[in-house]
Amino acid sequence: MADKVNALPFFYGNITREDAEDYLRQGGMSDGLYLLRQSRNYLGGYALSVAYRRECYHYTIERELNETYAIAGGKSHRTPMNVIDYHSQESDGLVCLLKKPYNRPKGMQPKVGPFEDLKEKLIRDYVKQTWNLQGAGLEQAIISQRPQLEKLIATTAHEKMPWFHHTITRENSETRLQAGSRNNGKFLIRKRDNHGSYALCLLHGGQVMHYRIDKDKAGKLSIPDGKKFDTLWQLVEHYSYKPDGLLRVLTEPCPQPEGPNHGVVGGNGQRNLLEAAGGMISRFKSFSIPIPGQKKARSTSQTTPNDNQKNIYEFKGPNSAVVRESMPMDTEVYESPYADPDELRTSTVDRSQLFLEDGELGSGNFGTVMKGTYKMRKTEKTVAVKILKNDDNNPAVKEEMMREANVMQQLDNPYIVRMIGICEAENLMLVMELAELGPLHKYLQKHRQITMKNITELVHQVAMGMKYLEEHNFVHRDLAARNVLLVTQHYAKISDFGLSKALTEEENYYKAKGHGKWPVKWYAPECMNYFKFSCKSDVWSFGVLMWEAYSLGMKPYKGMKGNEVIQMIESGERMSSPSNCPPEMYDLMKKCWTYKAEERPGFMVVESRLRDYYYDIASQ
Ligand code: AMP
Repeated sequence: MADKVNALPFFYGNITREDAEDYLRQGGMSDGLYLLRQSRNYLGGYALSVAYRRECYHYTIERELNETYAIAGGKSHRTPMNVIDYHSQESDGLVCLLKKPYNRPKGMQPKVGPFEDLKEKLIRDYVKQTWNLQGAGLEQAIISQRPQLEKLIATTAHEKMPWFHHTITRENSETRLQAGSRNNGKFLIRKRDNHGSYALCLLHGGQVMHYRIDKDKAGKLSIPDGKKFDTLWQLVEHYSYKPDGLLRVLTEPCPQPEGPNHGVVGGNGQRNLLEAAGGMISRFKSFSIPIPGQKKARSTSQTTPNDNQKNIYEFKGPNSAVVRESMPMDTEVYESPYADPDELRTSTVDRSQLFLEDGELGSGNFGTVMKGTYKMRKTEKTVAVKILKNDDNNPAVKEEMMREANVMQQLDNPYIVRMIGICEAENLMLVMELAELGPLHKYLQKHRQITMKNITELVHQVAMGMKYLEEHNFVHRDLAARNVLLVTQHYAKISDFGLSKALTEEENYYKAKGHGKWPVKWYAPECMNYFKFSCKSDVWSFGVLMWEAYSLGMKPYKGMKGNEVIQMIESGERMSSPSNCPPEMYDLMKKCWTYKAEERPGFMVVESRLRDYYYDIASQ
């Protein structure tokens, strides 16, 4: 949504109410002249400023829990643009109809707030420190989890701010404010209890004023009778430009005694806050938040948490407790087991270090898949072991499994099941990362309450894995929901590379010699007609996988035979939308089912479409 709003010519970004009035005055103040800006107190909300009879009126457009937008107490709409369209027709509580937008002057971009500026750096540092990631793993973590990370940063970032002094006494706060510079407007925030009550302590005329900040039932923060805010960030930002009931504006963050003085005095309070925050990021280099089940902290003998525990983690920062959904980076299969340089990368697994457990995880063409433990040099990994059945002693089957191992060995991506090694012992065994919740379609059939956001998150991860394959010139050739395995409810990996092929530099497709035992319902027309397989035919299969995911694991083309499906596709017909499937996602499926491969989008485009849609719904 933010991107769409950003593109509106009358959206000014993070400007103050006073700035908005100045702009409307520049625009002539005709009745109904309006502009849109970012709300400075509600996360994800907007403010509408309207001129009427030479006065300016301001309305908050709140983002509601059910992902709609409304002017407080008014009618709900799907987007902020719809709110504006509606009030161009109906005043419905507004002083007048919205008549004419006042567009930004030429060349002016919407103003980026201090938090937006800092967000990128905070997110990056946060991911680096918390999960000890770098390079591609870091980038992929940020791409796949951006909405969650943004929320986390927005609600906990104050802990990294120089003005946040955690739990100190009232007396202590006074001593700190009186030490060093004693400029009017020097301030700090301290924590009063563990239930969201804080105090803003402000130096004015040599005296310290203490303002209580309370959290209401909806989680909004405010000084008694003052404006409400979602975060301490926004509260500080607001009172840095406007006293709004305080004795004066906040200017200089009071430094914490243990650190260097980051709160430089100056005329521009906001700039100082930003500089200070930048300084704090480097101060917190060694700051890391322990997360139960987190790979780095996880003891090797720890048992895997149950389904529910896996999906929600309570993590505590130095002074906070936040409950959040698990992220892929929390698991031990986000990074390759060989990412640690102390673990020697080998393609063979020593049988004496591999321990199989009773009970099957599943079974396939080759035989069974069992759960096991593999003792590496430093750690012990729970693994999945594909065991070749020996009964028929067929060398072709063995070759096939070795081919699969050979492909898997060349791949290293968080959204692809990695091979740990091959073990030749009583049977030929392929040792892989464990994705314990099993195939996506079965999981969805059993967990029908899953949200669209969650499905989109998983489908987007599959698109990220497929984009990686596309970039590395591999075709999967068996992409389907049954071959997407879940590590947690929020973490999917592509598996089963039995049919996969590495493409050559010269040819961007693989030509099969003849028809095989093929998953026809997932195959693009060129696979059936010319035996031609490329990343574009994987895109076709991905469309079918999307259909399976949004229909909660239903069988595609149910009740139809392979040749009937081929006829249906050739006649131009496609599967209809699963019920409740977001139209944007059905539209993308249909793009994946573009008849001609050369007109079909690649995974680069598909992933980016999915990413945009996912960010849109997940940031609501
Ligand atoms: P496949 O032979 O690759 O089709 O695997 C057969 C079944 O074994 C799958 O449908 C899963 O239920 C299970 N399985 C395969 N690989 C894994 C894995 N890496 N982690 C967990 N379960 C797996």
